[in-house]
Amino acid sequence: MIRRSNRTCQLCTETAFAPCTRCETTFCMEHAPMPGTRCLRCELGYHNDKQVLRPYFRIGAVISIATFVWLFLSVKDGLPLRSGGMRAITTGFPVIDLFILCVLGAVVMSAAVGTSLGYIYRRRFLAERSRD
Ligand SMILES: [Zn+2]
Ligand SMILES: [Zn+2]
Repeated sequence: MIRRSNRTCQLCTETAFAPCTRCETTFCMEHAPMPGTRCLRCELGYHNDKQVLRPYFRIGAVISIATFVWLFLSVKDGLPLRSGGMRAITTGFPVIDLFILCVLGAVVMSAAVGTSLGYIYRRRFLAERSRD
């Protein structure tokens, strides 16, 4: 196996500027990973590994939907049939308003769960060090 010197960029012949903080591959200033990112190889691995999060995204979405379905069902019976609210912001039917709110709530909540999971996973990836 030919191993190129650690003092040159792995993508060109320029002098090395900074190594990838994960796999320690060295790159010149032009090819160095941007702050908060890793080298192409590590980023590709990250995007493949991220697939493991998919079931958790699904669980998050199911929990969000279940929460709002439960909320909808438990609140709807107490609502009057018609409301006298402003037509611009309500449909005039509290049940429909509540339904729309619950759908929006479920969407926002699952998106938030997905974003936080992705964020935590990204943080862990960036904190990772080379294992080989
Ligand atoms: Zn280079
Ligand atoms: Zn790397």
